[in-house]
Amino acid sequence: MKIGFIGLGNMGAPMAANLVAAGHEVWGFDMAAPCPEGVQAASGAPQAAEGADVVITMLPNGAILRAVAGEIIAHMSPGAVLLDCSTVDVQSARDVAEIAAKSGLMAMDAPVSGGVGGAAAGTLTFMAGGPEDGFAKVAPLFEIMGQKAVHCGPSGNGQAAKICNNMILGVTMIGTCEAFALADKLGLDRQKMFDVVSTSSGYSWSMNAYCPAPGVGPQSPADNDYTPGFAADLMLKDLRLSQQAAQAVDADTPMGQAATALYQSFVEEEDGAGKDFSAMLPRFTSRRRM
Ligand code: NAD
Repeated sequence: MKIGFIGLGNMGAPMAANLVAAGHEVWGFDMAAPCPEGVQAASGAPQAAEGADVVITMLPNGAILRAVAGEIIAHMSPGAVLLDCSTVDVQSARDVAEIAAKSGLMAMDAPVSGGVGGAAAGTLTFMAGGPEDGFAKVAPLFEIMGQKAVHCGPSGNGQAAKICNNMILGVTMIGTCEAFALADKLGLDRQKMFDVVSTSSGYSWSMNAYCPAPGVGPQSPADNDYTPGFAADLMLKDLRLSQQAAQAVDADTPMGQAATALYQSFVEEEDGAGKDFSAMLPRFTSRRRM
């Protein structure tokens, strides 16, 4: 396929490189980052989009997605797919899809989980929203860049799945960290706590696969001084998107709201910026009951 790739940052660059390695012709554009080897440098977003079967965007937020979509839609060929893999608000994804459809394009929102490691290894999980024929057209690309793709329904549903998943993740990570901090004060050994919880009803991905306690459970950012991994800043971004969505549809999400407030203080006031999101554990152990 001829593929346009706009947004070649930490995630986009390795994803584009994997498409090149699989034999696709990739034209890339980023306003700051260089093109990875094998990706042909376009003069701007419109040139990257021109004549492409699929245009992939991997951008910071919904406002930038809207701006880039506004630049490229008129340059895309009818029947082409606009595939946004960024994490953005549900409404931006739905609005962009509507504008694209009016120009005879198929728009898919397909945010990812798996982080920079998953992007480099081609093991991302894609959560896709949009038309069935759009999903079918880009499915071979999901296979190259990832290991799993779930079609979640119409436009915006990929973003909905992503923020619901990450709201659960933020809440369970906080719960796991505060439970470890309580266990410490009760004199319960962290390894014993892990041995019990990881095989009991308190188990979760946060405990079992990404344990926030150093030296306990499988290797995780906790074992590397909380170097991300998945940065607390990115967790805050996703939690804010969950709260923006909850407000828009009048959904009661008190735990998501509390997690957002905690990660906001952690990132903005408590030196959490740039640390892994599991660094909530030392944050809790260094504090007393409020
Ligand atoms: P990044 O900041 O490294 O990359 C974004 C790139 O977009 C930058 O290189 C920037 O120069 C470029 N850009 C911004 N405006 C542009 C424009 N108008 N035209 C062209 N290029 C433009 O971010 P990232 O870590 O690669 O994340 C990208 C997206 O993926 C985000 O939405 C993020 O939430 C999501 N995501 C990131 C991770 C992660 O672990 N980094 C994991 C899952 C999802």
